[in-house]
Amino acid sequence: MTVQDLPIDTRAAQLREALGDRIVLTGDAEYDTARLAWNLAVDQRPFAVARPESAEDVVAVVRAATAAGLRLAPQSTGHAAVALSASDLSDVVIVNLTRLRGVTVDPTAQTARVLGGSQWIDVVAASAPHGLTALHGSAGDVSVVGYSLSGGLSFYARAHGLAVGSVREVQLVTADGALVRASADEHSDLFWAVRGGAGAFGIVVSVEIGLLPYADVVAGMLLWDVSHAAVVTHAWAQWTATAPESVTTSLRILHLPPLPELPPFLSGRSLVVIDGAILETDAAASALLEPLRALAPEVDTFARVPAAALIEVHMDPPAPTPAASSHAVLSGLPADAVDAFVAGAATPGLFVAELRHIGGAAARPAADGGAVSAIAGEYVVQGVAIVPAPETASAADAAVHAAVAALEPWHADAVALTFIDSTDTDAAPAYGAGLELLRQLKAEHDPVGVFVSARPV
Ligand SMILES: Cc1cc2nc3c(=O)[nH]c(=O)nc-3n(C[C@H](O)[C@H](O)[C@H](O)COP(=O)(O)OP(=O)(O)OC[C@H]3O[C@@H](n4cnc5c(N)ncnc54)[C@H](O)[C@@H]3O)c2cc1C
Repeated sequence: MTVQDLPIDTRAAQLREALGDRIVLTGDAEYDTARLAWNLAVDQRPFAVARPESAEDVVAVVRAATAAGLRLAPQSTGHAAVALSASDLSDVVIVNLTRLRGVTVDPTAQTARVLGGSQWIDVVAASAPHGLTALHGSAGDVSVVGYSLSGGLSFYARAHGLAVGSVREVQLVTADGALVRASADEHSDLFWAVRGGAGAFGIVVSVEIGLLPYADVVAGMLLWDVSHAAVVTHAWAQWTATAPESVTTSLRILHLPPLPELPPFLSGRSLVVIDGAILETDAAASALLEPLRALAPEVDTFARVPAAALIEVHMDPPAPTPAASSHAVLSGLPADAVDAFVAGAATPGLFVAELRHIGGAAARPAADGGAVSAIAGEYVVQGVAIVPAPETASAADAAVHAAVAALEPWHADAVALTFIDSTDTDAAPAYGAGLELLRQLKAEHDPVGVFVSARPV
């Protein structure tokens, strides 16, 4: 008899014996809360959920699960749970890393050691007292590992590149249950692969990342009624075409539902919002913003703020949310593309249509980078819809795909890995010519496919 033939009860008993109350099995009272992902639209039903509290626990989880013939899926928050849901989880232990959080900053080296389940809010809070910050994204509750090892697009990206470029060292538990340190000079093949391959290569228990020397930055948002969407989006497209690399911004058309928690001037309105960061002096930032301010925004919060405040600027949902999204990388944003974006943003059921300006350092592959070090394009377009009930999921999916398809003539042969949050997006273009090597390394380090990840290689 092979481990695959073991009865389910035997496998469950083996996990329980190895992990005690750090494993939650299907029959347990806690199962339905333990399996919840950040994206509440995903009904993930794994064989079990493990909740390790240390690197040693992660080793124990991997050894016990593989001995029982089970596979493993690392999950820090479940922001990318839709992408993971493409895999059958009935023989998978989700390794929920929320109990493995902590950050130690070395202010002299300007680095941080970050435990595997830590979120950006943890890093920003620990770095700010030292006048430092990090290449975090727009949401503080996204995990450092899940974001950085899939690229990671921040409002510093055009100046400083993708967050994956700041990763100096990764400690992970590999398919054979070993705790391995991967860096430029130790297990360098694995270090290359995990920087892009993320959870397909192991369960990361800590990373060391480089920090940015910013105590404060010019950041904020400009907001108009949606009736100005065409004028503002055309102006932003022209503005971004010549904006220096010190400027990284996004433009969104938002359809806000009538919600009591929103201020009355926002509740139930459709808006166009530009936000981001400008790494310049106050005077240079003001000069850069002038053409956008000339369009008389209703709200203008751009100002010098503590760098930690940048994580609030995009106003991402503060709590787990049921959502669907789709994206594409664009090679440019000429006037016809702007018209298509504005038309697509009016798709019924859409919550947000977003354009992120990339290019600059975000588009330049790094010589010493990993499997992913850049995104080959100039903009990312993304559609997001809320999924209030399971029966609305297919309409939400259709809306987000329609918003992205509206810009099809300008789609580049590229994807932003972190923005893959659907079951039908091919991740291959993110790796380009490196895909073959990545697959070889996957076969070498995880020959039987123990690890299941949101963006399989
Ligand atoms: C509201 C919102 C805002 C966002 N903003 C941005 C943004 O500004 N920029 C951007 O680039 N992306 C953004 N994203 C996308 C986000 O960065 C990705 O979905 C990212 O992969 C989420 O990582 P996570 O660990 O939090 O999610 P999870 O779903 O927990 O993990 C995603 C994948 O990462 C891997 N992983 C996570 N933790 C580990 C670990 N410890 N060890 C090994 N593998 C691991 C696994 O393969 C897992 O399947 C946003 C997403 C949302 C929903």
